[in-house]
Amino acid sequence: MSAALAAVPVVVRPKAAGGCSDAPVLKERGQREVFCGLTGIIWLHRKIQDAFFLIVGSRTCAHLMQSAAGVMIFAEPRFGTAIIDERDLAGMSDANDELDRVVAQLLSRRPDIKLLFLVGSCPSEVIKLDLSRAAERLGRSYTPNVRVLNYSGSGIETTFTQGEDACLAALVPGLPATTAKSLMVVGALADVVEDQFRRLFAAIGIADVQFLPPRRSTLLPVVGPNTKYLLAQPFLADTARALEARGATRLEAPFPLGVEGTTAWFEAAAREWNIPDTKFQAAIAPAATRATAALGRIRHQLAGKRIFFFPDSQLEIPLARFLSRELDMNLVEVGTPFLHRQHLATELDMLPAGTMLSEGQHVENQLDRCRAAQPDIVVCGLGLANPLEAEGMTTKWAIELVFTPIQGYEQAADLAELFARPLVRRARLAA
Ligand code: SF4
Repeated sequence: MSAALAAVPVVVRPKAAGGCSDAPVLKERGQREVFCGLTGIIWLHRKIQDAFFLIVGSRTCAHLMQSAAGVMIFAEPRFGTAIIDERDLAGMSDANDELDRVVAQLLSRRPDIKLLFLVGSCPSEVIKLDLSRAAERLGRSYTPNVRVLNYSGSGIETTFTQGEDACLAALVPGLPATTAKSLMVVGALADVVEDQFRRLFAAIGIADVQFLPPRRSTLLPVVGPNTKYLLAQPFLADTARALEARGATRLEAPFPLGVEGTTAWFEAAAREWNIPDTKFQAAIAPAATRATAALGRIRHQLAGKRIFFFPDSQLEIPLARFLSRELDMNLVEVGTPFLHRQHLATELDMLPAGTMLSEGQHVENQLDRCRAAQPDIVVCGLGLANPLEAEGMTTKWAIELVFTPIQGYEQAADLAELFARPLVRRARLAA
């Protein structure tokens, strides 16, 4: 390693003393305050540019999507709702005939659609509409122009990021097979982040990295027994299982949030590809140095501040690791809807020993603990943010962390800013 590079503070820090790998986790069951998996369509429809997401649901589902996506649509939307009405619910009409009619209308109007997802909802599950059979039937009718897949976005026992997991898992059986060694990055990333990652992988010496989901359905990544994959998001348990059923192997790494997480994430691939350390360090040094400097300018706004996470996006543990280790924040409680111990093993190792972890939700109990702790900032869903703000707390909407590009070096400071901004605003209001 050259002298100049040796000065770059990008090396993964040693494990926190003890970490949280074996720490007790408070398991909670009770009322939950989360969006359903349909919400994932808001970022997925922008990512896969020739796909259409047809929700088979009620007017409630359509309203949720319109209000959640309304402020974010800047092009023709690629999602819609086939409304299940009272006649369908009462079993007075054949919902499959209705669905076929809606799909025929849609595809004749929109020849740009190459991949159609039928997305299940609570109502479609309640009337036991079999969307996998519907997808098979419609797929036969529209092949080879349009592929038809299905997944569930229902809110029954799920949280909102599981919509992406179900969508990507539905894509896996149709990925072309390969026996060549290949690297796949799994999890929807903003195009700008994907481009940065592609450039960094190329600089490290790993060309031809593939991404799931792809930008177009015709660019599906290949998969096989020599495929290694890196998770870019921590909420993809079903997708990981489906990839492993096709022979792929997960590379163990923390998630690419902050300088430390991003470095270790790229390093996992570099190790697998036997890239010399000097080459790896040289490739990441410019971006890592910039990111470290940018975080240094924000740290004073966050250092020592106490943060409380309600369970919502499943990003909570990687975010807590980043905020505590790189910005010196104090973790009051880190709640997560589901704790996937295998996928989060490295993250748990890196959390400060003694961090209060909770899994699942009993919203009243959590609110009591939050009020008693009086943290400086609370990360929670939209439904809790307004009431907590009214009580004088500073909040950050968890869903914003999924909509915003936050992965990688260039976004590390933006991610820190997302937490600093509400604190600065609150301080100004109090002044
Ligand atoms: S899928 Fe279920 S939770 Fe989601 S909007 Fe529709 S009815 Fe509500």
